Amino acid sequence: MSIEARLNSVMDSIEHAKSSATGSADHVQLIAVSKTFEAANIHPVLTAGQRVFGENRVQESQSKWPELKSEFPDVELHLIGPLQSNKAEDAVSLFDVIHTVDREKIAKALSAAMEKQNKVLKLFVQVNTGEEDQKAGIPPKDAVEFVNRCRDVHRLDIEGLMCIPPFDENPGPHFALLRKLAQESGVKKLSMGMSGDYETAIEFGATHVRVGSAIFGARD
Ligand SMILES: *Cc1c(COP(=O)(O)O)cnc(C)c1O
Repeated sequence: MSIEARLNSVMDSIEHAKSSATGSADHVQLIAVSKTFEAANIHPVLTAGQRVFGENRVQESQSKWPELKSEFPDVELHLIGPLQSNKAEDAVSLFDVIHTVDREKIAKALSAAMEKQNKVLKLFVQVNTGEEDQKAGIPPKDAVEFVNRCRDVHRLDIEGLMCIPPFDENPGPHFALLRKLAQESGVKKLSMGMSGDYETAIEFGATHVRVGSAIFGARD
C-alpha cells in the first residue's frame, strides 16, 4: 500500500470510530507521527494534504522541518516526546503544540521561552497513567494540582492531557482515567491513541490521536 493509501485508510478508520464514541467526538485531530522518517518520506504525506505532524525529538526535528515548513508554511508541528528544560527555547521556536509538560521545571522554562519569543504554544500535560518508573509524565494523583499550578503560577495555556498506556495492558482503563482527570482539571482536549489503539482511544473521547507506523510503515 502507498503512504497516501495508508493515510486515507487511517482517516477512514477515524471517521468510523467517531460514530461509536462516547460524548462529542465531532472533531478528532490526526497527528501524523513522522519521527525517524526522512523528509523524502514525509513529503508525500504533505502532498496528500496532511498538515499536522508529531515528532519526539527537538534536534531531529530541527534537521528536517525548517525546510519542509518553508515549502508548506501551514504545517502544525507537535512535540510528543520528553523535553529537557535546556531545549525549551528551541522547542518553542520550532513547535506549535507540546504534549509533554510534566514537571515544574519544564513549565517554568516554557513560560520563560514563550515570553522571550513572544509566542504562545498550546500545551498538554502528560500523565503517567500506568505509574511506570521508566515513563515520563506526572503521576495521576498529582495531575489536577499540577494543571492548576501551570495555569495559575506559570500562566500556561493548558489545553488538555496526554498519556501513553503501558505497552502490555488493555488501554481502555488508561484512556478512561485520562478523561476523568481532564474533567477534574477543567481541560477539554485528550491526546491519546497510537497506531495500535487509536480507534479505542476515540471511543473513549480522544480529540488528538498520534499515529506513526500505520501511516509511515514500521520504524527501524
Ligand atoms: C512514536 C509515538 C507515537 C506513534 O506510535 P505508532 O505506534 O507508530 O503509531 C505516538 N505517541 C508517542 C508519544 C510516540 O513516541
